[in-house]
Amino acid sequence: MPSSGPNTSSPAPKFRVAICGAGPGGLTLATAILKYTPLSSSIAIDIYEAAPEVGTVGAGISVWPRTSALLNAMGLLDGLSGEIGAVGTGISEGLGFTYRLSEQAEEGINFFSLKVPTDPLLIHRSALLTTLQRGLESSDASNCTVQIHTNARLTSYTSHSPTSPITLHFADQPSAQADVLIGADGIRSAVRSTMFAAPSMRDISLKEKVEPRWTGVVAYRSLITMEDLKKVWTPEQVRASGLRAMIYTGKNKHIVSYPISRGALINFVGFYTVPGAYESRAAYPGKWVKDVPVEDVKKCYEGWEGEVQGLLQAHAMETHFGAGAGQSMEDAHILGRLLAHPLTTLDGKRGTTDVTTALKIYEAVRFDFARGVVRTARAVGLAYEFDNGWDLPPSFLDSLRRNDDKATQWLERWAYEGLDNGGSVVERGCEDEGCKAANTEIVNVEER
Ligand SMILES: Cc1cc2nc3c(=O)[nH]c(=O)nc-3n(C[C@H](O)[C@H](O)[C@H](O)COP(=O)(O)OP(=O)(O)OC[C@H]3O[C@@H](n4cnc5c(N)ncnc54)[C@H](O)[C@@H]3O)c2cc1C
Repeated sequence: MPSSGPNTSSPAPKFRVAICGAGPGGLTLATAILKYTPLSSSIAIDIYEAAPEVGTVGAGISVWPRTSALLNAMGLLDGLSGEIGAVGTGISEGLGFTYRLSEQAEEGINFFSLKVPTDPLLIHRSALLTTLQRGLESSDASNCTVQIHTNARLTSYTSHSPTSPITLHFADQPSAQADVLIGADGIRSAVRSTMFAAPSMRDISLKEKVEPRWTGVVAYRSLITMEDLKKVWTPEQVRASGLRAMIYTGKNKHIVSYPISRGALINFVGFYTVPGAYESRAAYPGKWVKDVPVEDVKKCYEGWEGEVQGLLQAHAMETHFGAGAGQSMEDAHILGRLLAHPLTTLDGKRGTTDVTTALKIYEAVRFDFARGVVRTARAVGLAYEFDNGWDLPPSFLDSLRRNDDKATQWLERWAYEGLDNGGSVVERGCEDEGCKAANTEIVNVEER
């Protein structure tokens, strides 16, 4: 962890950033700040993580090209080389995902193949987090300081004005101070709930959003060893489905499975949607994350084809777009660049941009985009379960059924957008509308 940086006479930090949460978003934000803060400047970063350690839980995630380009730009892709590779993944042919009708007892039918120009990386979440953390620890080319505080669960914060320091309150820890607080603390964010519930919050509609709304979807996550799968599937099934990224579909239910860790493990996520739960704003009855007996999962997919039954039998252990982590990392990268920008300062004096304005620029640049991805992810999830009720282009399901390019284009647009125009995310950081606006704003301040 760079605590003193390469220079013995490090510049004093221009401000203190507290990041709540050491998930993909929080760690990427720290990485981006470290990378983009020039040596003439420095930022003090404190990461507060509720868990006793960083990133040991979770299963597989798909990392799409726009996010891997970003990891590459930050020099982190090599750190994942042990996880990535065509060994046994079978998707090196440009076959993103195979969609299969599976809700019947008879053998399933593969009805759609998402043909992607570049394969997504299918990796273990903990490998991603370890790589990000190692990157922070080994970075010696920055004058920024980074401290990760584990067992530090933020309960709330207080802030008396936009320009005064923020006091962070923790369960079982002394409070701490920062100039900027970034909430990267997940779906039940303490930062978001404190902000939305604050008496000073003028937009009262946000008070209803203090508690996250249940989508009506339940997900069973698990990892299956390839060895176990080979015991229950025929070699032909292993080749055709075990080494590929599969989406087994049925009404109101679907299963995503794909190999990770160079084919040693199969990531399994079984979803079911409770019809009407989202629309009625129902609260999920019970704990949000818990261990369940494998019998519950088997019951959920009772009557489905043999290939699925085999998968469930091989269940050794107890986001429809595969975009959440990628989005949080992309957001973090852009926010990190804005905070690190030499013209972003605490007070905005001497022709610079104050940090509050920099945060507003971030919101202007990213809010609509992020919201669009969230909406599309929900629509895609419903489409997997033959529900066309949410924002889907009317022809989408027809295209899906016909296995034609229209559906592929619609599904892959987000994941590859920009790459064909020759830009990595970082290049686009300066060229796309969002960051162009951000840079323009900062340049305008410079020109004043
Ligand atoms: C079943 C499933 C499959 C998914 N598959 C994919 C995929 O394939 N690809 C993809 O890109 N995304 C996927 N996602 C989404 C992805 O996991 C999330 O979007 C992503 O983890 C969000 O990252 P984050 O850093 O914002 O938050 P999180 O990963 O939720 O991290 C938040 C961190 O904050 C900590 N924390 C929480 N509260 C506090 C507090 N009060 N104080 C301090 N620390 C706190 C938590 O312990 C955690 O470490 C999937 C999600 C699910 C549920």
